[in-house]
Amino acid sequence: MTDVNCIFCRIAKGEIPCSKIYEDDKVLAFLDLAPVHHGHALVIPKSHHKDMLEVPSELGCAIFAAMQKVAAAVVKATGAQGFNVMQNNGLAAGQTVFHIHWHIIPRFDDDSLEMWEQGSYPDMATMQAMAAKVASYLEN
Ligand code: 5GP
Ligand code: ZN
Repeated sequence: MTDVNCIFCRIAKGEIPCSKIYEDDKVLAFLDLAPVHHGHALVIPKSHHKDMLEVPSELGCAIFAAMQKVAAAVVKATGAQGFNVMQNNGLAAGQTVFHIHWHIIPRFDDDSLEMWEQGSYPDMATMQAMAAKVASYLEN
């Protein structure tokens, strides 16, 4: 459940220091060393899982509960008006550390950060066809 070459496994084991915010038996949270805003935190399971498709869903409750606690604390500590929860899967999505983690990013009314640009579908039929295609790949 740990990968000796994984930086976040090494942080979870205490081999590499971090600015720890929160810890329980399954989850650890610490500050990102390259923050979008000061207070930008990372929440990780202590066990090694590459991404959303590999993390056991049983861990979801512990991770979600920790994210709620950490996000509330980050908001209070920074005086943020809101926060983003981000989680990147794969190189194409910007994942650089292949031990799943959730970013908690404090946001401010005047920070004018654009997280992404949104597009549109040419018509409803195209949108419905995409929904049907995705649904056809769902496993029960
Ligand atoms: P990703 O791009 O994979 O979603 O996010 C990885 C994040 O981990 C980046 O925001 C990066 O700044 C942060 N990071 C990478 N290495 C370390 C480290 O050794 N310590 C800490 N605290 N953050 C790290
Ligand atoms: Zn790991």
